[in-house]
Amino acid sequence: MNERYDIAIIGSGPAGISAALNAKIRNKRFIILGSKEISTKLVKAHKINNYLGFYGKSGVEIRDEFANHLKAMDIEITEEKVNSIYAMGEYFTLMVNDKMYEATSIILATGVNFGKPFKGEEEFLGKGVGYCATCDAPLYKDKVVTIIAYNKHEEAEANFIGTIASKVYYVPMYKQEIEVDSSIEIIKDIPVEIVGDSSVKKLILKNSEIETDGVFILRDSISPGQLVPGLKIENNHVEVDRTMKTNIEGCYAAGDIVGTPYQYIKAAGEGNIAALSAVSYIEQIKRKNKEV
Ligand code: FAD
Repeated sequence: MNERYDIAIIGSGPAGISAALNAKIRNKRFIILGSKEISTKLVKAHKINNYLGFYGKSGVEIRDEFANHLKAMDIEITEEKVNSIYAMGEYFTLMVNDKMYEATSIILATGVNFGKPFKGEEEFLGKGVGYCATCDAPLYKDKVVTIIAYNKHEEAEANFIGTIASKVYYVPMYKQEIEVDSSIEIIKDIPVEIVGDSSVKKLILKNSEIETDGVFILRDSISPGQLVPGLKIENNHVEVDRTMKTNIEGCYAAGDIVGTPYQYIKAAGEGNIAALSAVSYIEQIKRKNKEV
């Protein structure tokens, strides 16, 4: 049986790590999933002047301070990307590549995804378009697969699917050197549209076309509506109340994912509120279960 956490925090930016600190202080069993780098957006900031107590520091310096804070409180980020989350009643199931986690409550802190979906992406989702190559790999045995990757660490996904598919095309959307297996064909072009009939047939790029059975789009973050089916989205953001509660019982959200202003201090403050709200929810559930 899977270990069930009190709280699963998805995302390790300022919102997620602030939620983790508060979950730790409240002695909850929690897991924080994201990146040990903390947040690529934090690292990219040249100078940050609006975060209390860190005047004039760079994003990297603040990231290091956050990492020291986590270390001092003995909090470890689990370096994994959550692909989907299902509300099961009194708990949630989180799908992470070939693993599954369970938690009584969840805090969504995955930041905001600025990229618009490609033409055809939503139409063919589940009909050849996917977001997790490892999860869906068996469906593409001896088929042609195209991977559109936004991050160098997706090269491992491409290499893995290369052992199953008959042909893999790799479309890198980042600037670093590409280091994929020699059997994988690298396409340096801009994806425009995914086309097909009952399933995907082709990826149209700015200067070329690829005949393909599947297209995996591996972005840094998945849109919240796709991550948690049934989640209420308003103007591209997750709708929450002042306690950071979403429309799904036990599901909270914090940071850029819930709306503007996109700022570190707002994200951290909302992470704090979300954690305390999740703690109250867990205590309420525990009381209820004792009474039964
Ligand atoms: P993020 O920082 O975006 O963190 C989200 C985290 O979730 C990431 O670690 C990501 O890897 C993880 N994640 C996403 N999807 C998943 C998944 N499915 N599974 C597991 N983990 C996942 N704000 C300011 O206040 N002052 C500034 O000076 C400033 N300068 C900026 C400069 C730049 C260049 C940029 C890009 C932004 C700047 N911002 C600034 C805005 C600030 O970066 C954001 O408001 C802040 O990072 C939001 O925090 P967050 O925790 O909501 O999300």
